[in-house]
Amino acid sequence: MNEPYQYRERQVELDKEKEFRLGEGKISGYSSVALGALSLLAVLAYLYPSWLTTAELRQAYDAASLQNLLKYGMYFSLFFGCVTFLLRKYRRMGLIGIGLTGIAFLLGGYKVPVGPVEPQQLSLGVDWLILAFLGSAFIFMSVEKLFPKYKNQVILRKEWGLDLFYFCFNHLAISAIIIYANYHVSHFDWAVSASLQNFIQSMPVLLQVAIIVICADFVLYWEHRLYHEVKYLWPVHAVHHSVETMDWLAGSRGHFIQVFSERAMVMVPLYLLGADTAALNIYVAFAALQAVLIHCNTRIPFGPLKYIFVTPQFHHWHHSSEKPAIDTNYSAHTILFDWLFKTMHMPKEHWPAEYGTTKKLPTTYLGQTLYPLTANLKKSEPK
Ligand SMILES: [Zn+2]
Repeated sequence: MNEPYQYRERQVELDKEKEFRLGEGKISGYSSVALGALSLLAVLAYLYPSWLTTAELRQAYDAASLQNLLKYGMYFSLFFGCVTFLLRKYRRMGLIGIGLTGIAFLLGGYKVPVGPVEPQQLSLGVDWLILAFLGSAFIFMSVEKLFPKYKNQVILRKEWGLDLFYFCFNHLAISAIIIYANYHVSHFDWAVSASLQNFIQSMPVLLQVAIIVICADFVLYWEHRLYHEVKYLWPVHAVHHSVETMDWLAGSRGHFIQVFSERAMVMVPLYLLGADTAALNIYVAFAALQAVLIHCNTRIPFGPLKYIFVTPQFHHWHHSSEKPAIDTNYSAHTILFDWLFKTMHMPKEHWPAEYGTTKKLPTTYLGQTLYPLTANLKKSEPK
């Protein structure tokens, strides 16, 4: 008879060097640089909106009123920069933050005139990057601070810079992703049924959302499972699994082939169902928040909801390199299909002790982007 698996507690030592502590100038230094960089990007987006903003997103915000937010961002960057400079230890960061904001002011700052935007087919999603970064950093860093799973885990953990790069790339590429997803979905015109769409639209919005969630989950489950179980596809998805510390930024790591294919596949059920815009918007917001939350370093108690929805504990197991968890928990939204197809691993109280792939991947963006090529040339990839 097989011995039961011996679960271990994950050990996270506090890295005092990388920790943020009040009064050192590190918190203000990073805040100044981050706000300075975002301000400069925002000013560029105001100057060249056709090229640097997203047509779909522009309809959702008022560019003129967001200039107020930009104004506060710029002044706070300067304020934090001065504080950092006075605290001495991280002086250089203070200067960089002030410098970035200074350039943003020189380019017109928060007073760049806002006018009609000539739409371009392909643009960079600088607006999407800024808004998503501010929103995610605020919501999920608060969640991780208030309900941390591993209290000792630092924000500047190993490879945070690499994951921030992925975060930026995936958000900047939003317009290319939408173009590709629309092109992909156009191949499914033959499957559109007006009577099905009328039936869906006759339902209450929340029921429409529930149907979208289940249909999208079915597609994402199988897409994800193929990435794991087809030998030649695994190296593409292995990039996402190479992260060894889970937090709000960890889920951003993903090979561009995976990012593009995932969005294109999930568009198919959304397109065929033809639900109301309100239902689609609720689904998109839910999916975006859940995708970040399930990677977070958080122990938020979900109570009975953890038997319905994919939660951090469920998805952390998906990222574990421990034997019983390999090739389990594929679902993105609900646990339904893992339960149905018997691929679920959810020990009641335990969390993983180890994350990542059993075989180490390169640790640079370029190395990871080329990894599907280099790994497939070498053939078999153990997980
Ligand atoms: Zn996976």
